[in-house]
Parts: sequence; C-alpha cells; structure tokens
Amino acid sequence: QEKDYRMMLRTRNPGGFIPPQLYLALDELSDRYGYGHLRATTRQGIQLHGILKSNLQATVATIIQNLGSTLGACGDLNRNIMAPPAIFRDKPEYLIAQEYADKIADLLRPQTEAYYEIWLDGEKAVTVEEHPDVVAARQQNYNGTVFADSAEPIYGTHYMPRKFKMAVTVPGDNSVDAYTQDVTLVVITNKAGALQGFNILAGGGMGRTHNKEETFARIADEIGYVDKADIFDAVKAIVATQRDYGDRFQRRHARMKYLLHDWGVEKFREQVESYFGKPLKPFKKLPAWKFEDYLGWYEQGDGKWFVGVNIDNGRIYDNGSLNLRSALRTIVERYQVPMRITANQNIVLYDIEPGDKAAIQTLLDEHGVTRPDQVDQMVREAMACPALPMCGLAVTESERVIPDILGRVRALLTKLGLPDEHFVVRMTGCPNGCARPYMAELGFVGSAPESYQIWLGGSPNQTRLARAYTERLPVDELEFFLEPLFVYFRDQRRVGESFGDFCDRVSFDALRKFSAGYDPA
Ligand code: SF4
Repeated sequence: QEKDYRMMLRTRNPGGFIPPQLYLALDELSDRYGYGHLRATTRQGIQLHGILKSNLQATVATIIQNLGSTLGACGDLNRNIMAPPAIFRDKPEYLIAQEYADKIADLLRPQTEAYYEIWLDGEKAVTVEEHPDVVAARQQNYNGTVFADSAEPIYGTHYMPRKFKMAVTVPGDNSVDAYTQDVTLVVITNKAGALQGFNILAGGGMGRTHNKEETFARIADEIGYVDKADIFDAVKAIVATQRDYGDRFQRRHARMKYLLHDWGVEKFREQVESYFGKPLKPFKKLPAWKFEDYLGWYEQGDGKWFVGVNIDNGRIYDNGSLNLRSALRTIVERYQVPMRITANQNIVLYDIEPGDKAAIQTLLDEHGVTRPDQVDQMVREAMACPALPMCGLAVTESERVIPDILGRVRALLTKLGLPDEHFVVRMTGCPNGCARPYMAELGFVGSAPESYQIWLGGSPNQTRLARAYTERLPVDELEFFLEPLFVYFRDQRRVGESFGDFCDRVSFDALRKFSAGYDPA
C-alpha cells in the first residue's frame, strides 16, 4: 500500500497579486485538503501545507480554475517574480514595476503543456493569455539566446542549472530585498514618469550549507542599464548566460551568484553582452534604498485606499483571539478586493472604496488583528521561515519560537535601558535561508537542534550582507550571549546608529573581546 505522502504546494503570483476569487478558493482548499491555514511566503506567494498526494490533483486543478497557478513556483527555472506590493496609481513607476513583473513572468514561463495535462486531465480548460510583445520576445533569437527548434525556446530541454529568482522595483523602494535576487530590475523613468529603461542588479542569493565554505550568501552587483525596448533581450541574455555557463555538475555551486563570484562582474557582463548583441549602458545613479513594509492605511492616488495587514511570519489562521483567516475571508468575500502578498509575509488589500474603509478596519479589529502601530517595530520587521514541523530540511525551530525570542530580546533591551530600540531580526531553521537571514541585523540560522548560527551586521535597509559571528548558540544562552553586545552597542554607538551598522563598523574581534571581559554585575 502506498504511503500517505503529504505535500506543500506553492502558488505563482507575480508581484504578489491574488484576485479575490483565487484567495477565496485557496482559503476553502486549506480547509478541505490542508491544515486549515495559509501561509504568505517571503517571495509573495501562498503556501498550502499538508496536502495528501491523493488530493493534489483536485487542489491544483481548483487553483488553476480560479485564475491561479503553481507553474514555476518550484523547480529549476524562474520562480515567483517579486515587485513592491504598494498600489500608488499616481506614481507611474510602481505601476510599471508591477506590469513588468507580470511581463517577465510571462517571458520566462515554461511552455510545457504537461502542466495542464497532468493537473487538468489533459483538458486545456484555461487559455493562458500573455502580453503579445512577450510572446514575440520569447521566440526571438539573439546570438543563441533561444533554442529555435525547442518547445522551450528559453529553457531548452534541460531548463536552468538551478532555481532563478527575480524582482522588479522602483528607485529607493527596497520592499523586495533587491540585493538577494539573481536579477533585480530597477525601473527608471523620466521626470514626467514615462518609462525610460531599467538598471540591472545581478548575482544575489541566500542559500548556503553549514561547514561548506564554498557555499555562501552573496549580494547582487550593479551590472548596467538597458533602454526599455531592450529589456526582454537583456533578461534573456542573462538567463541564457546562467543557462549555458551555470554549474550543472555541482548542485551546491549552481546558482548564478557563483558564476558572478567565479567570473567577476566584467567577464559576466561581457558574456551577457555577447548574447545581447551590444554593450550594456552604465548603471544609473539611484537614491538611497529604504525598507518599506506598507502596513496600515495608504491613499492610492485615485481616491481609493489600500491597507497593509500585519501577519506574524505569514501564518494566516484562526487561533484563540486572533481570527485573521476569518477576517480576510470576510473582507474579500464582502468587498471583493484584490490583494498583494508582501515580501515580508504580510498582505496588502487594495482598491478599497473610501466608504468601506471604516467597516474594514472594524472587521480587522473585531477579529483581533493588531493594528500595525500597536505592533512592536522589531516584530513588524522580523521574519521567520516555517521550519519544523512543516519543512523537511529544518534542523531546528523557527516560526514557532521567534515570538518568544523577540520577547526575550525586547526584555533584555528594556533591562539595559534601550526599551525603544529595534532592528531587523530574521530566523531560519536551516542554512537555505528562505527568510533571508543573511541580510538581518541579527540573524538566526538553525545549526543544530535548539541552536543557531548567529549573523550580525546587516543593514536596516537590507543592502549589506551580515557576517557569521558564532557557529552554534544554544537558544537558552541567548541573554548571556546578547547582553554584552547590547551593552557595548549602547555605550559605543554613534548618534542614530543602528545595531546592524554598529556591528559592521566595529570589528567582530572588538565585539568578542568586549564580550569576553564583560561582567554582568
Ligand atoms: Fe525549510 Fe530551511 Fe527554508 Fe526554513 S530556511 S523553510 S528550514 S528550507
């Protein structure tokens, strides 16, 4: 008899977009076939956990029939493409970022019919509509960027060496963790808001393996700029470079970040240009990046509103006095509003009529959903991956313990006279890094049961890589470990300096020396 395999299923939602019909279908599926909860992911998708293999086809078919898809949400190809979740209809660059996230998701969508054959019993019940310019661009060959004779012109028969992650964002908006992606495109407009082209960052990636120095987290490099007419060719040239030169022999070395690392930016750019057929232009100067979480109420610029709803670690469920899942279902059912998942595992509900604003806020309040301004800023900025018991790769806890860890950190800061201090804390149950802990100011990476590798020195706006400070901290030694670091920070910081910036500025040797001589009395 076959075992009762349980699956995790992840949706593909470019820019985190989920129409009301799809959200309601997912909500219903989580009850019918899952564990009764949904999870907003760090890549702006939704995960359903606990689907029995025997229910998989019905689940995927329901998603497809309700305007969703799981195609390309896993596997060695372009994954869910990210974009800022904010809806600002009077800021063209935001609309452009979301439009191009959709277009590039289409460009790099696998062409296989097998997906529909498997999940819809061969009936192609859904006609996939794509942007016509994308269809043409996918087939167009430049110096070998596509396989003209293949059913998969971009991926060929072997797809990519490894997963491939992309984002599109606007200058200054780092709601998408722009430096952690294989490729991030930054929308460049003129003063009137008309699209001119895109800056390109490439070679970021988080996953690594403990005790394997040849694997590492890396932040993306500035590669260049292309005019808007060339963007699809430039993306194809980068994808083709990784497709053809990424390491297909060692899976641990297969992400594009290793190609950038091994080759250097110049050689990488030359190869991309040889496929692209012309030089990339110089990277355009950008304003400073800012992390945005878009929680709370915002006017959209067209008279309507969006609201960012805080979801601790992306878990949408009803639990005790928190009835978040019921709240979202009721709001979506009653007001038929679409949503966007954010890269910080929260949700933005949008296109809300001014007259519905108060009633929606009341519904959130009545269901116990905490208003963002009442959430500790450190909790608001924190992220944790699912880990145990959901993820087979986890070596220790993450999501289930982070509330307690954050509470302990807050208590310690308060004891040391820093009650309002906050910084970015991220936690994962293994070094794969799904919650991007290597960008945190204080990162926890599961290294053994109830023990974590500790990373320090990321920046508040997620533009600098943290560094591993200690390999295995038993979680019950947390206060003993952190107290000297916080005391040193409190006494030696510059005005306004964040914890991550401080840890990056002073050497780790200095931190260790201070900790070794620290007397808690
Ligand atoms: Fe699983 Fe590791 Fe990803 Fe956490 S970081 S979800 S434990 S693979």
